[in-house]
Amino acid sequence: MAAMLRIVNGRVYDPANGLDGVVRDVCLQDGRIVADVPPEAKKIDAHGMVVMPGGVDIHCHIAGSKVNMARKLQPEDHRLDVHPRTRFTRSGTGGTVPSTFATGYRYAALGYTSAMEAAVTPLGARSTLEELQDTPVIDKGFFVLVGNNVLLYRLLQEGRLEEFRNTLAWWLCATKAYAPKLVNPGADELWKGSRNANITLLDDTIGPFDLTPRKVIDAFIGAANDLGLPHPVHIHCNNLGHTGNYETTLETMRIADGRRAHITHIQFHSYGSVAGKSGDNPTSKAREISEFVNTHPNISADVGAVMFGRSTSMTADAPLAYMLRRFGGGKWINADTEHESGCGIVPFTYQDKVYTNALQWAIGLELFLRSEDPWRMVFSTDHPNGGSFMSYPKLIRLLMDREFRKQEMAKVNQKAIEASGLRDCQDRELSLYEIAIITRAGPARLLGLTCKGHLGVGADADVTIYEENADKEEMFSTPRYVIKGGELIIEDHEFRADSDGRVFHVAPDYDPAIEQVIQPFFEDFYSIQFANYPVDIEYLHHHEVVPTTHQAAAPVASETT
Ligand SMILES: [Zn+2]
Repeated sequence: MAAMLRIVNGRVYDPANGLDGVVRDVCLQDGRIVADVPPEAKKIDAHGMVVMPGGVDIHCHIAGSKVNMARKLQPEDHRLDVHPRTRFTRSGTGGTVPSTFATGYRYAALGYTSAMEAAVTPLGARSTLEELQDTPVIDKGFFVLVGNNVLLYRLLQEGRLEEFRNTLAWWLCATKAYAPKLVNPGADELWKGSRNANITLLDDTIGPFDLTPRKVIDAFIGAANDLGLPHPVHIHCNNLGHTGNYETTLETMRIADGRRAHITHIQFHSYGSVAGKSGDNPTSKAREISEFVNTHPNISADVGAVMFGRSTSMTADAPLAYMLRRFGGGKWINADTEHESGCGIVPFTYQDKVYTNALQWAIGLELFLRSEDPWRMVFSTDHPNGGSFMSYPKLIRLLMDREFRKQEMAKVNQKAIEASGLRDCQDRELSLYEIAIITRAGPARLLGLTCKGHLGVGADADVTIYEENADKEEMFSTPRYVIKGGELIIEDHEFRADSDGRVFHVAPDYDPAIEQVIQPFFEDFYSIQFANYPVDIEYLHHHEVVPTTHQAAAPVASETT
Protein backbone atom coordinates (compact mmCIF):
# COMPACT_ATOMS: atom_id res chain seq x y z
CA MET A 1 0.00 0.00 0.00
CA ALA A 2 1.49 3.29 -1.07
CA ALA A 3 -1.03 5.52 0.66
CA MET A 4 0.41 8.81 1.84
CA LEU A 5 -1.17 11.16 4.28
CA ARG A 6 -0.22 14.40 5.99
CA ILE A 7 -2.09 15.45 9.14
CA VAL A 8 -1.76 19.20 9.64
CA ASN A 9 -2.71 21.77 12.30
CA GLY A 10 -3.52 19.23 15.02
CA ARG A 11 -2.19 19.36 18.57
CA VAL A 12 0.00 16.29 18.85
CA TYR A 13 0.25 14.29 22.10
CA ASP A 14 3.08 11.83 21.68
CA PRO A 15 4.64 11.27 25.12
CA ALA A 16 7.21 8.73 23.92
CA ASN A 17 8.70 11.54 21.84
CA GLY A 18 8.10 14.27 24.41
CA LEU A 19 5.37 16.06 22.42
CA ASP A 20 2.81 17.64 24.74
CA GLY A 21 0.17 19.28 22.58
CA VAL A 22 2.60 20.67 20.01
CA VAL A 23 1.05 21.75 16.71
CA ARG A 24 2.98 19.94 14.00
CA ASP A 25 2.50 17.75 10.95
CA VAL A 26 2.31 13.99 11.21
CA CYS A 27 3.20 12.17 7.98
CA LEU A 28 2.25 8.62 7.03
CA GLN A 29 3.39 6.42 4.19
CA ASP A 30 3.16 2.69 3.48
CA GLY A 31 1.74 1.94 6.89
CA ARG A 32 4.44 3.75 8.85
CA ILE A 33 5.09 7.17 10.30
CA VAL A 34 7.60 9.00 8.12
CA ALA A 35 9.45 12.30 8.41
CA ASP A 36 7.83 13.85 5.34
CA VAL A 37 5.59 13.12 2.38
CA PRO A 38 5.42 14.86 -1.02
CA PRO A 39 3.13 17.90 -1.36
CA GLU A 40 0.56 15.94 -3.39
CA ALA A 41 -0.16 13.60 -0.45
CA LYS A 42 -3.73 13.65 0.87
CA LYS A 43 -4.15 16.06 3.79
CA ILE A 44 -6.28 15.95 6.91
CA ASP A 45 -6.79 19.35 8.51
CA ALA A 46 -6.86 18.61 12.24
CA HIS A 47 -7.37 22.21 13.35
CA GLY A 48 -9.10 22.20 16.75
CA MET A 49 -8.27 18.54 17.18
CA VAL A 50 -5.99 16.35 19.22
CA VAL A 51 -3.71 13.85 17.51
CA MET A 52 -2.58 10.76 19.43
CA PRO A 53 -1.16 7.36 18.62
CA GLY A 54 -3.81 4.61 18.45
CA GLY A 55 -4.86 3.25 21.84
CA VAL A 56 -3.21 0.10 23.20
CA ASP A 57 -5.12 -2.11 25.64
CA ILE A 58 -2.64 -4.09 27.71
CA HIS A 59 -5.19 -6.40 29.33
CA CYS A 60 -8.65 -7.44 28.15
CA HIS A 61 -10.63 -10.58 27.41
CA ILE A 62 -11.81 -10.68 23.81
CA ALA A 63 -11.11 -14.18 22.46
CA GLY A 64 -10.73 -17.78 23.52
CA SER A 65 -12.77 -20.56 25.01
CA LYS A 66 -13.86 -18.71 28.16
CA VAL A 67 -14.92 -15.67 26.14
CA ASN A 68 -16.97 -17.93 23.90
CA MET A 69 -18.54 -19.66 26.86
CA ALA A 70 -19.46 -16.25 28.27
CA ARG A 71 -21.09 -15.34 24.95
CA LYS A 72 -23.12 -18.51 24.95
CA LEU A 73 -24.05 -18.14 28.60
CA GLN A 74 -25.76 -14.79 28.09
CA PRO A 75 -27.95 -14.42 25.01
CA GLU A 76 -29.77 -11.68 26.92
CA ASP A 77 -26.53 -9.71 26.93
CA HIS A 78 -26.65 -9.46 23.14
CA ARG A 79 -30.34 -9.17 22.42
CA LEU A 80 -30.68 -5.45 22.96
CA ASP A 81 -27.33 -4.50 21.50
CA VAL A 82 -27.26 -5.40 17.83
CA HIS A 83 -24.21 -4.17 15.92
CA PRO A 84 -25.49 -3.55 12.41
CA ARG A 85 -23.46 -3.99 9.27
CA THR A 86 -22.44 -0.99 7.25
CA ARG A 87 -21.24 -0.66 3.69
CA PHE A 88 -17.73 -1.37 4.94
CA THR A 89 -18.11 -3.44 8.09
CA ARG A 90 -19.81 -6.64 9.17
CA SER A 91 -22.58 -7.16 11.72
CA GLY A 92 -22.29 -8.59 15.20
CA THR A 93 -23.66 -8.44 18.70
CA GLY A 94 -22.55 -6.27 21.59
CA GLY A 95 -23.21 -6.34 25.31
CA THR A 96 -20.42 -6.97 27.77
CA VAL A 97 -18.90 -9.72 25.60
CA PRO A 98 -19.25 -8.58 21.99
CA SER A 99 -18.81 -10.94 19.06
CA THR A 100 -15.45 -10.92 17.29
CA PHE A 101 -16.43 -8.46 14.56
CA ALA A 102 -18.14 -6.07 16.98
CA THR A 103 -15.11 -6.23 19.29
CA GLY A 104 -12.73 -5.06 16.59
CA TYR A 105 -15.00 -2.34 15.25
CA ARG A 106 -15.95 -1.02 18.67
CA TYR A 107 -12.34 -0.80 19.80
CA ALA A 108 -11.50 1.01 16.58
CA ALA A 109 -14.46 3.34 17.03
CA LEU A 110 -12.93 4.45 20.36
CA GLY A 111 -9.55 5.06 18.73
CA TYR A 112 -7.93 1.83 19.92
CA THR A 113 -5.79 -0.04 17.43
CA SER A 114 -4.17 -2.77 19.56
CA ALA A 115 -5.42 -5.05 22.36
CA MET A 116 -4.00 -8.00 24.27
CA GLU A 117 -6.19 -10.96 25.23
CA ALA A 118 -4.99 -11.69 28.75
CA ALA A 119 -5.75 -15.33 29.60
CA VAL A 120 -5.67 -18.24 27.20
CA THR A 121 -5.14 -21.88 28.08
CA PRO A 122 -2.38 -23.45 25.98
CA LEU A 123 -4.90 -25.99 24.71
CA GLY A 124 -7.17 -23.14 23.65
CA ALA A 125 -4.47 -21.33 21.68
CA ARG A 126 -5.51 -22.57 18.25
CA SER A 127 -9.15 -21.52 18.53
CA THR A 128 -8.10 -18.25 20.17
CA LEU A 129 -5.87 -17.45 17.21
CA GLU A 130 -8.80 -18.15 14.87
CA GLU A 131 -10.95 -15.74 16.82
CA LEU A 132 -8.24 -13.09 16.91
CA GLN A 133 -7.88 -13.51 13.17
CA ASP A 134 -11.62 -12.86 12.98
CA THR A 135 -11.39 -9.69 15.07
CA PRO A 136 -11.07 -6.84 12.57
CA VAL A 137 -8.94 -3.69 12.46
CA ILE A 138 -6.98 -4.05 15.71
CA ASP A 139 -3.60 -5.71 16.18
CA LYS A 140 -3.53 -8.24 18.99
CA GLY A 141 -1.82 -11.03 20.83
CA PHE A 142 -2.50 -13.17 23.89
CA PHE A 143 -1.00 -14.15 27.21
CA VAL A 144 -0.83 -17.86 27.85
CA LEU A 145 -1.80 -19.39 31.19
CA VAL A 146 1.18 -21.23 32.65
CA GLY A 147 0.95 -20.53 36.39
CA ASN A 148 -0.82 -23.76 37.32
CA ASN A 149 0.81 -26.01 34.75
CA VAL A 150 1.49 -29.48 36.13
CA LEU A 151 4.57 -30.29 34.04
CA LEU A 152 6.18 -26.94 34.86
CA TYR A 153 5.42 -27.57 38.54
CA ARG A 154 7.09 -30.98 38.37
CA LEU A 155 10.26 -29.54 36.86
CA LEU A 156 10.31 -26.75 39.40
CA GLN A 157 9.74 -29.09 42.30
CA GLU A 158 12.72 -31.16 41.21
CA GLY A 159 14.90 -28.07 40.90
CA ARG A 160 15.35 -28.55 37.13
CA LEU A 161 15.40 -24.80 36.48
CA GLU A 162 17.06 -24.88 33.08
CA GLU A 163 14.52 -27.40 31.84
CA PHE A 164 11.77 -25.29 33.43
CA ARG A 165 12.95 -22.29 31.42
CA ASN A 166 13.27 -24.30 28.22
CA THR A 167 9.80 -25.78 28.71
CA LEU A 168 8.30 -22.34 29.29
CA ALA A 169 9.97 -21.11 26.09
CA TRP A 170 8.70 -24.17 24.22
CA TRP A 171 5.17 -23.48 25.45
CA LEU A 172 5.29 -19.84 24.34
CA CYS A 173 6.49 -20.96 20.91
CA ALA A 174 4.04 -23.87 20.64
CA THR A 175 1.03 -21.66 21.37
CA LYS A 176 2.22 -18.51 19.54
CA ALA A 177 1.63 -16.52 22.71
CA TYR A 178 2.94 -13.08 23.56
CA ALA A 179 3.70 -13.41 27.28
CA PRO A 180 3.38 -15.87 30.17
CA LYS A 181 0.44 -15.30 32.51
CA LEU A 182 0.06 -16.41 36.12
CA VAL A 183 -3.39 -16.57 37.69
CA ASN A 184 -3.72 -17.29 41.40
CA PRO A 185 -0.62 -19.50 41.20
CA GLY A 186 -1.00 -22.79 43.02
CA ALA A 187 -4.75 -22.53 43.53
CA ASP A 188 -5.86 -24.93 40.81
CA GLU A 189 -4.29 -27.93 42.51
CA LEU A 190 -6.04 -27.18 45.76
CA TRP A 191 -9.27 -26.38 43.95
CA LYS A 192 -9.23 -29.62 41.99
CA GLY A 193 -7.87 -31.80 44.76
CA SER A 194 -9.89 -30.62 47.72
CA ARG A 195 -13.41 -29.33 47.36
CA ASN A 196 -13.66 -25.54 47.08
CA ALA A 197 -10.18 -24.98 48.54
CA ASN A 198 -8.00 -22.02 47.64
CA ILE A 199 -4.52 -20.71 48.36
CA THR A 200 -4.45 -18.02 51.02
CA LEU A 201 -0.76 -17.45 51.79
CA LEU A 202 2.29 -17.27 49.54
CA ASP A 203 3.96 -19.89 51.72
CA ASP A 204 1.07 -22.39 51.61
CA THR A 205 1.96 -25.78 50.17
CA ILE A 206 0.49 -26.36 46.72
CA GLY A 207 -1.44 -29.58 47.12
CA PRO A 208 0.66 -32.61 46.17
CA PHE A 209 3.73 -30.56 45.20
CA ASP A 210 6.63 -29.56 47.35
CA LEU A 211 6.08 -26.01 46.15
CA THR A 212 4.61 -22.73 47.34
CA PRO A 213 3.15 -19.82 45.35
CA ARG A 214 6.25 -17.85 46.39
CA LYS A 215 8.54 -20.38 44.69
CA VAL A 216 6.34 -20.50 41.59
CA ILE A 217 6.15 -16.71 41.23
CA ASP A 218 9.89 -16.35 41.79
CA ALA A 219 10.66 -18.99 39.15
CA PHE A 220 8.42 -17.44 36.49
CA ILE A 221 9.71 -13.91 37.09
CA GLY A 222 13.23 -15.29 36.76
CA ALA A 223 12.54 -17.35 33.64
CA ALA A 224 10.71 -14.54 31.82
CA ASN A 225 13.59 -12.15 32.56
CA ASP A 226 16.22 -14.73 31.56
CA LEU A 227 14.44 -15.37 28.27
CA GLY A 228 14.47 -11.62 27.58
CA LEU A 229 10.76 -11.52 26.75
CA PRO A 230 9.45 -8.16 25.54
CA HIS A 231 6.80 -8.21 28.29
CA PRO A 232 7.62 -9.70 31.71
CA VAL A 233 5.48 -12.28 33.44
CA HIS A 234 1.93 -10.95 33.76
CA ILE A 235 0.69 -11.72 37.27
CA HIS A 236 -2.86 -12.01 38.61
CA CYS A 237 -1.92 -12.30 42.29
CA ASN A 238 -3.34 -14.71 44.82
CA ASN A 239 -6.39 -13.69 46.87
CA LEU A 240 -8.05 -11.53 44.21
CA GLY A 241 -11.11 -9.83 45.63
CA HIS A 242 -10.49 -10.91 49.21
CA THR A 243 -10.61 -8.47 52.10
CA GLY A 244 -7.08 -7.83 53.35
CA ASN A 245 -5.40 -9.04 50.14
CA TYR A 246 -3.11 -6.01 49.74
CA GLU A 247 -0.49 -7.73 51.91
CA THR A 248 -0.35 -10.62 49.44
CA THR A 249 0.04 -8.09 46.62
CA LEU A 250 2.88 -6.25 48.37
CA GLU A 251 4.60 -9.54 49.14
CA THR A 252 4.22 -10.70 45.54
CA MET A 253 5.85 -7.48 44.30
CA ARG A 254 8.67 -7.96 46.81
CA ILE A 255 9.42 -11.39 45.31
CA ALA A 256 10.45 -9.61 42.10
CA ASP A 257 13.35 -8.09 44.04
CA GLY A 258 14.41 -5.66 41.33
CA ARG A 259 13.44 -7.87 38.39
CA ARG A 260 10.69 -6.80 36.00
CA ALA A 261 7.18 -8.01 36.77
CA HIS A 262 3.71 -6.79 35.77
CA ILE A 263 0.84 -6.93 38.26
CA THR A 264 -2.49 -6.91 36.50
CA HIS A 265 -5.83 -5.38 37.56
CA ILE A 266 -4.13 -4.23 40.76
CA GLN A 267 -7.34 -2.56 41.96
CA PHE A 268 -8.76 -6.01 42.71
CA HIS A 269 -5.69 -6.65 44.88
CA SER A 270 -5.64 -3.45 46.95
CA TYR A 271 -8.07 -4.24 49.76
CA GLY A 272 -7.46 -3.85 53.45
CA SER A 273 -9.52 -5.00 56.39
CA VAL A 274 -10.68 -3.45 59.60
CA ALA A 275 -8.01 -4.26 62.21
CA GLY A 276 -8.42 -7.76 63.51
CA LYS A 277 -11.56 -8.48 61.43
CA SER A 278 -10.53 -10.27 58.27
CA GLY A 279 -14.08 -11.17 57.24
CA ASP A 280 -15.47 -7.65 57.38
CA ASN A 281 -16.03 -5.11 54.66
CA PRO A 282 -12.83 -4.26 52.82
CA THR A 283 -11.06 -0.91 53.09
CA SER A 284 -8.85 0.85 50.57
CA LYS A 285 -5.12 0.16 50.57
CA ALA A 286 -4.56 2.08 47.35
CA ARG A 287 -2.13 4.38 49.17
CA GLU A 288 0.12 1.53 50.31
CA ILE A 289 0.00 -0.19 46.92
CA SER A 290 0.68 3.07 45.08
CA GLU A 291 3.62 3.89 47.35
CA PHE A 292 5.19 0.54 46.57
CA VAL A 293 4.71 0.83 42.81
CA ASN A 294 5.84 4.47 42.80
CA THR A 295 9.12 3.56 44.49
CA HIS A 296 9.91 0.31 42.59
CA PRO A 297 10.65 1.01 38.93
CA ASN A 298 10.92 -2.71 38.15
CA ILE A 299 7.19 -3.08 38.85
CA SER A 300 4.42 -2.10 36.45
CA ALA A 301 0.68 -2.52 36.79
CA ASP A 302 -2.61 -1.96 35.05
CA VAL A 303 -5.44 -0.73 37.22
CA GLY A 304 -8.44 -2.92 36.39
CA ALA A 305 -10.86 -0.14 37.31
CA VAL A 306 -14.46 -0.96 38.15
CA MET A 307 -17.27 0.89 36.39
CA PHE A 308 -20.88 0.63 37.49
CA GLY A 309 -23.30 -1.45 35.47
CA ARG A 310 -23.21 -4.82 33.82
CA SER A 311 -20.02 -6.79 33.57
CA THR A 312 -19.02 -10.36 33.04
CA SER A 313 -16.46 -11.81 35.39
CA MET A 314 -14.37 -14.29 33.40
CA THR A 315 -11.24 -15.67 34.91
CA ALA A 316 -8.83 -18.58 35.07
CA ASP A 317 -9.19 -18.17 38.85
CA ALA A 318 -11.75 -20.94 39.43
CA PRO A 319 -12.02 -20.48 43.21
CA LEU A 320 -12.67 -16.77 42.68
CA ALA A 321 -15.60 -17.56 40.39
CA TYR A 322 -16.94 -19.88 43.07
CA MET A 323 -16.83 -17.00 45.56
CA LEU A 324 -18.38 -14.51 43.11
CA ARG A 325 -21.28 -16.76 42.15
CA ARG A 326 -22.83 -16.00 45.55
CA PHE A 327 -22.95 -12.31 44.66
CA GLY A 328 -23.90 -12.82 41.03
CA GLY A 329 -26.86 -14.89 42.13
CA GLY A 330 -27.60 -16.31 38.67
CA LYS A 331 -26.08 -18.71 36.21
CA TRP A 332 -22.35 -19.36 36.22
CA ILE A 333 -19.75 -21.69 34.76
CA ASN A 334 -16.75 -23.44 36.24
CA ALA A 335 -14.35 -25.59 34.24
CA ASP A 336 -10.87 -27.10 34.23
CA THR A 337 -8.57 -27.53 31.25
CA GLU A 338 -6.59 -30.74 31.71
CA HIS A 339 -3.24 -30.00 33.39
CA GLU A 340 -3.22 -26.37 32.46
CA SER A 341 -5.76 -24.11 34.11
CA GLY A 342 -9.09 -23.55 35.80
CA CYS A 343 -11.82 -21.20 34.62
CA GLY A 344 -14.93 -19.47 35.93
CA ILE A 345 -17.55 -17.15 34.44
CA VAL A 346 -20.07 -15.14 36.46
CA PRO A 347 -22.32 -12.40 35.02
CA PHE A 348 -22.17 -9.53 37.50
CA THR A 349 -23.58 -6.03 37.99
CA TYR A 350 -21.60 -3.39 39.88
CA GLN A 351 -24.01 -1.17 41.81
CA ASP A 352 -23.15 2.31 43.00
CA LYS A 353 -25.13 1.98 46.23
CA VAL A 354 -23.45 -1.26 47.28
CA TYR A 355 -20.58 -0.58 49.67
CA THR A 356 -18.06 -3.05 48.20
CA ASN A 357 -18.77 -2.08 44.58
CA ALA A 358 -18.48 1.64 45.34
CA LEU A 359 -15.24 1.02 47.23
CA GLN A 360 -13.81 -0.87 44.24
CA TRP A 361 -14.77 2.01 41.96
CA ALA A 362 -13.09 4.49 44.32
CA ILE A 363 -9.92 2.40 44.66
CA GLY A 364 -9.54 2.22 40.89
CA LEU A 365 -9.68 6.01 40.66
CA GLU A 366 -7.35 6.38 43.63
CA LEU A 367 -4.70 4.20 42.01
CA PHE A 368 -4.66 6.39 38.90
CA LEU A 369 -4.66 9.61 40.91
CA ARG A 370 -1.93 8.50 43.34
CA SER A 371 0.38 7.26 40.59
CA GLU A 372 3.59 9.26 40.27
CA ASP A 373 4.69 7.43 37.13
CA PRO A 374 1.85 7.00 34.65
CA TRP A 375 4.16 4.92 32.44
CA ARG A 376 3.92 2.12 34.99
CA MET A 377 0.30 2.39 36.22
CA VAL A 378 -1.66 2.05 33.02
CA PHE A 379 -5.27 1.98 31.95
CA SER A 380 -7.57 -1.05 32.06
CA THR A 381 -10.92 -2.20 33.34
CA ASP A 382 -9.89 -5.82 32.84
CA HIS A 383 -12.67 -5.81 30.20
CA PRO A 384 -15.27 -7.19 30.76
CA ASN A 385 -14.48 -7.96 34.42
CA GLY A 386 -14.42 -4.46 35.94
CA GLY A 387 -16.52 -3.08 33.09
CA SER A 388 -16.71 -3.07 29.30
CA PHE A 389 -14.07 -1.30 27.24
CA MET A 390 -17.00 0.79 26.06
CA SER A 391 -16.80 2.56 29.43
CA TYR A 392 -13.26 3.85 28.77
CA PRO A 393 -14.39 7.36 27.73
CA LYS A 394 -16.32 7.80 30.97
CA LEU A 395 -13.34 6.58 32.99
CA ILE A 396 -11.11 9.06 31.16
CA ARG A 397 -13.54 11.85 32.08
CA LEU A 398 -13.50 10.75 35.73
CA LEU A 399 -9.71 11.12 35.70
CA MET A 400 -9.58 14.41 33.80
CA ASP A 401 -12.52 16.33 35.25
CA ARG A 402 -12.60 16.74 39.04
CA GLU A 403 -16.00 18.48 39.09
CA PHE A 404 -17.54 15.58 37.23
CA ARG A 405 -15.76 13.18 39.57
CA LYS A 406 -17.17 15.00 42.61
CA GLN A 407 -20.68 14.76 41.16
CA GLU A 408 -20.26 11.05 40.58
CA MET A 409 -18.76 10.55 44.05
CA ALA A 410 -21.84 12.17 45.57
CA LYS A 411 -24.08 9.56 43.93
CA VAL A 412 -22.41 6.45 45.32
CA ASN A 413 -22.36 4.72 48.70
CA GLN A 414 -20.88 7.36 51.01
CA LYS A 415 -19.50 4.91 53.55
CA ALA A 416 -17.37 3.50 50.76
CA ILE A 417 -16.10 6.96 49.82
CA GLU A 418 -15.17 7.56 53.48
CA ALA A 419 -13.39 4.19 53.64
CA SER A 420 -11.41 5.03 50.50
CA GLY A 421 -8.73 7.65 50.18
CA LEU A 422 -10.34 9.25 47.16
CA ARG A 423 -10.93 12.59 48.87
CA ASP A 424 -7.19 12.84 49.60
CA CYS A 425 -6.45 13.05 45.90
CA GLN A 426 -9.63 14.66 44.65
CA ASP A 427 -7.95 17.76 43.27
CA ARG A 428 -5.78 15.96 40.76
CA GLU A 429 -6.83 16.03 37.13
CA LEU A 430 -4.93 14.00 34.57
CA SER A 431 -3.81 15.97 31.53
CA LEU A 432 -4.21 14.90 27.92
CA TYR A 433 -0.50 14.10 27.97
CA GLU A 434 -0.98 11.75 30.93
CA ILE A 435 -4.03 10.16 29.29
CA ALA A 436 -1.92 9.56 26.19
CA ILE A 437 0.63 7.82 28.43
CA ILE A 438 -1.76 5.54 30.31
CA THR A 439 -3.83 4.56 27.28
CA ARG A 440 -1.13 4.30 24.58
CA ALA A 441 2.51 5.09 25.17
CA GLY A 442 2.74 3.34 28.55
CA PRO A 443 1.04 0.07 27.62
CA ALA A 444 3.05 -0.14 24.39
CA ARG A 445 6.31 0.39 26.27
CA LEU A 446 5.40 -2.16 28.95
CA LEU A 447 4.53 -4.66 26.24
CA GLY A 448 7.82 -4.02 24.47
CA LEU A 449 5.95 -3.11 21.26
CA THR A 450 8.37 -0.57 19.85
CA CYS A 451 6.20 0.08 16.78
CA LYS A 452 3.17 1.04 18.90
CA GLY A 453 2.09 3.84 21.19
CA HIS A 454 4.08 6.63 19.53
CA LEU A 455 4.28 8.77 16.41
CA GLY A 456 8.03 8.74 15.82
CA VAL A 457 9.47 7.87 12.43
CA GLY A 458 9.17 4.12 11.81
CA ALA A 459 6.22 3.56 14.14
CA ASP A 460 3.09 1.87 12.82
CA ALA A 461 0.84 4.51 11.28
CA ASP A 462 -1.88 4.04 13.91
CA VAL A 463 -3.29 7.49 14.61
CA THR A 464 -6.44 8.72 16.34
CA ILE A 465 -7.72 12.25 15.96
CA TYR A 466 -10.25 13.58 18.46
CA GLU A 467 -12.15 16.85 18.28
CA GLU A 468 -11.31 18.96 21.32
CA ASN A 469 -14.23 19.07 23.71
CA ALA A 470 -14.61 20.14 27.34
CA ASP A 471 -16.67 16.98 27.85
CA LYS A 472 -13.89 14.41 27.76
CA GLU A 473 -16.31 11.49 27.74
CA GLU A 474 -17.85 12.74 24.52
CA MET A 475 -14.44 13.60 23.09
CA PHE A 476 -13.01 10.12 23.65
CA SER A 477 -16.24 8.34 22.62
CA THR A 478 -16.23 9.52 19.05
CA PRO A 479 -12.90 10.16 17.36
CA ARG A 480 -13.20 12.09 14.12
CA TYR A 481 -10.55 10.02 12.36
CA VAL A 482 -8.97 6.64 13.09
CA ILE A 483 -6.07 5.51 10.96
CA LYS A 484 -4.77 1.97 11.29
CA GLY A 485 -1.55 0.92 9.57
CA GLY A 486 -1.84 4.00 7.36
CA GLU A 487 -5.39 3.18 6.25
CA LEU A 488 -8.19 5.62 6.97
CA ILE A 489 -10.64 3.36 8.81
CA ILE A 490 -12.88 6.07 10.29
CA GLU A 491 -13.41 9.46 8.68
CA ASP A 492 -15.85 12.06 9.98
CA HIS A 493 -16.92 9.55 12.65
CA GLU A 494 -17.96 6.94 10.04
CA PHE A 495 -16.30 3.72 8.96
CA ARG A 496 -14.74 4.11 5.55
CA ALA A 497 -12.87 0.82 5.36
CA ASP A 498 -12.37 -2.52 7.04
CA SER A 499 -9.06 -4.24 7.68
CA ASP A 500 -7.43 -7.20 9.35
CA GLY A 501 -5.07 -6.65 12.20
CA ARG A 502 -2.00 -8.73 12.81
CA VAL A 503 -1.08 -11.08 15.64
CA PHE A 504 2.02 -10.42 17.73
CA HIS A 505 3.77 -13.36 19.34
CA VAL A 506 7.14 -14.32 20.70
CA ALA A 507 9.48 -17.15 19.74
CA PRO A 508 12.11 -17.33 22.48
CA ASP A 509 15.09 -19.61 21.89
CA TYR A 510 15.09 -23.00 23.61
CA ASP A 511 17.05 -26.22 23.49
CA PRO A 512 15.08 -28.58 21.22
CA ALA A 513 16.17 -31.51 23.41
CA ILE A 514 13.54 -30.31 25.88
CA GLU A 515 10.91 -32.03 23.75
CA GLN A 516 12.23 -35.35 25.10
CA VAL A 517 11.07 -34.16 28.53
CA ILE A 518 7.75 -32.76 27.34
CA GLN A 519 6.60 -35.53 24.98
CA PRO A 520 6.36 -38.36 27.56
CA PHE A 521 4.19 -36.15 29.75
CA PHE A 522 1.77 -35.66 26.86
CA GLU A 523 1.60 -39.35 26.15
CA ASP A 524 0.88 -40.13 29.78
CA PHE A 525 -1.63 -37.43 30.58
CA TYR A 526 -2.92 -35.32 27.68
CA SER A 527 -6.02 -35.96 25.59
CA ILE A 528 -4.13 -34.75 22.52
CA GLN A 529 -1.10 -36.20 20.76
CA PHE A 530 2.10 -34.24 21.27
CA ALA A 531 2.61 -33.85 17.52
CA ASN A 532 -0.85 -32.29 17.12
CA TYR A 533 -0.45 -29.80 19.93
CA PRO A 534 1.80 -26.98 18.72
CA VAL A 535 0.22 -24.34 16.49
CA ASP A 536 2.20 -24.38 13.28
CA ILE A 537 3.52 -21.07 11.99
CA GLU A 538 1.70 -21.66 8.67
CA TYR A 539 -1.53 -21.60 10.63
CA LEU A 540 -1.13 -17.90 11.33
CA HIS A 541 -2.13 -15.34 8.78
CA HIS A 542 -0.90 -11.81 9.27
CA HIS A 543 1.51 -12.03 12.17
CA GLU A 544 4.77 -10.74 13.54
CA VAL A 545 7.34 -12.22 15.88
CA VAL A 546 8.47 -9.68 18.45
CA PRO A 547 12.08 -10.50 19.32
CA THR A 548 13.41 -11.20 22.78
CA THR A 549 16.21 -8.93 23.94
CA HIS A 550 18.71 -11.67 23.00
CA GLN A 551 17.23 -11.98 19.51
CA ALA A 552 17.03 -8.22 19.07
CA ALA A 553 20.75 -8.04 19.76
CA ALA A 554 21.26 -10.42 16.81
CA PRO A 555 18.29 -9.65 14.57
CA VAL A 556 16.66 -12.42 12.57
CA ALA A 557 14.58 -11.89 9.45
CA SER A 558 11.04 -10.80 10.24
CA GLU A 559 8.53 -13.58 9.91
CA THR A 560 5.75 -11.26 8.84
CA THR A 561 3.78 -12.92 6.09
ZN1 LIG B 1 -8.12 -10.22 33.22
